[in-house]
Amino acid sequence: MKVILAKKAGFCMGVRRAVEATLEIVQQSDKKIATFGPLIHNPQVLSLLQERGVMVLDAIPERFSGVVIIRAHGVPPDQKAALHRSGAEVKDATCPRVVKVQAIIKKHKKDRCFTVIIGDKNHAEVIGLMGYAEPEVAVVSCPADIDQLDITGPYIIVSQTTQDDDSFNELSARITRKFPGGKVFNTICDSTHKRQHEVRILCDEVEAVVVVGGKTSANTKRLAEIAEKKGLPVFLVETEADLDACRLRNFETVGVTAGASTPAWMLNRVMRTLEAMPGREEGGLGHFCRQTARCLLASNTYVAVAGGTLALAFTRILSTQMRWQSFVIAFGYLFAMHNINRFSGKHSRRFNDPLLEKFADKFGTGLLVFSSLMLVGVAILLWGSGRGAFLLFLTMTLFGIFYRIPIFPERLVQIFKIKRLKEIPGSKTFLVALAWALATVVLPNWGSAAGSATLVTLMLLVLLFIYVRNALFDVFDVQADRIVGKETLPVCIGEEKTLSFLTYILYGLFGAGIILPWTVLLPPAMIFFLPGVAYLLYITKKYQAGILSPSARLEFQLENALYLVALALMAGSSLF
Ligand code: SF4
Repeated sequence: MKVILAKKAGFCMGVRRAVEATLEIVQQSDKKIATFGPLIHNPQVLSLLQERGVMVLDAIPERFSGVVIIRAHGVPPDQKAALHRSGAEVKDATCPRVVKVQAIIKKHKKDRCFTVIIGDKNHAEVIGLMGYAEPEVAVVSCPADIDQLDITGPYIIVSQTTQDDDSFNELSARITRKFPGGKVFNTICDSTHKRQHEVRILCDEVEAVVVVGGKTSANTKRLAEIAEKKGLPVFLVETEADLDACRLRNFETVGVTAGASTPAWMLNRVMRTLEAMPGREEGGLGHFCRQTARCLLASNTYVAVAGGTLALAFTRILSTQMRWQSFVIAFGYLFAMHNINRFSGKHSRRFNDPLLEKFADKFGTGLLVFSSLMLVGVAILLWGSGRGAFLLFLTMTLFGIFYRIPIFPERLVQIFKIKRLKEIPGSKTFLVALAWALATVVLPNWGSAAGSATLVTLMLLVLLFIYVRNALFDVFDVQADRIVGKETLPVCIGEEKTLSFLTYILYGLFGAGIILPWTVLLPPAMIFFLPGVAYLLYITKKYQAGILSPSARLEFQLENALYLVALALMAGSSLF
């Protein structure tokens, strides 16, 4: 099935800011933490926050010792004051755009203006806005509410930030017709405008629309209404389990969008489940090919073959030979370590990919056994290459396993809050890249005629290249990683900064790839490293521009960068 994802689907700026602020407090504070009201309208995120110890306060307690977070919707000023009086440490995560509406109301209240809010009467944001205007305020949700209005002096009209454009324009026009002279402020948030506009356009390209989000989320329901008004079948789902596979199979192209409170990992789960469904016109062969591709990705076979092919290419350009042992060493080590890492821990697997979860339940144990046998096979092969290669392999393998096990003494855990090596911020991405460089460059070429300066230079290039690949995967998983408390680079410095940082690394690699092949450090055939770098730069830029989004297809495209490097180098080595 072809799935088209709306660019603006998922967390808006305000919700993302509130969730990130909450997770940052969870990470840094030992105090009791609560949100005043549910942080967002999404049950899955709320239950995950609860697992991490975040309580939800439904009423303001007399006394509270700990941190209370005000959610993105904001609260009336008297409630904020009462929270301070309770002794709580108040963190205000009200969205800046909601704060702007509150400021408009406050300013006009001073000029004795009456306030009309167009929105849902019981919505938390509207209740918060009313607090700034009371008692001179009325809420209009539908034309019937206008009949109840009694405005005698100057007045303003503002909107709930997630209101539908058309309904705001219609209701505000009716009000100003009945009570001329009112000032109209269209305070619908830009993100809502764009999200709704995109759905309207998406409806022209697809046969059905799936809207992902909490069933109580106002803006999610509104997206579904817009698609329904366009005459398309609409599926409003909270999780992938709600997808109606029987009905969805009748469509060939499906559009996906999500409310402002839907996390990216939930969107990914729905996307991946839809992508795996056969569309109306898909034949048996197409379905088989897609399932095979998924299995190759899930079992890490695709990536390990890429590693083996890279090793083969490096041996070819360093010693002008094709040694099958190079392939086996790199393939065996990478296959085993990736599978041990993927299938021996369950914690974050429940995010992002439900199909991977099923695959793990079915084949995880078998793959772990097979991976152990692979490691033994590689060890035997390396024993013949010399003690140095064998010891290096042993160190890499033990490090790869101990990296995930709690090894720090309790005293250090108290100070640094780190139990395992993998919890050192940003370490995993770098160490996996280092393991790749050693497995594809150093181990297969141990004792070869290539000088150590050449090996080290090549290893550094590969390390940086794989580092960018790994960090891009971290960017795709950033929201799920944040929730489980993983300290990857994008979690630590943010997605935007990570993508810019990776772009600079790729520019650097491109420059090095042009210059170094003409020095004694690298053979001339290494100039063929450049197409792979250019391809990775292309993917990074497209992702940065929002043209690509996380999906199984994108994972495949990213892994293809490794094949491109390997095949280009092999082709190049026969020319030089
Ligand atoms: S929809 Fe707009 S105003 Fe509302 S929280 Fe999100 S960014 Fe802020």
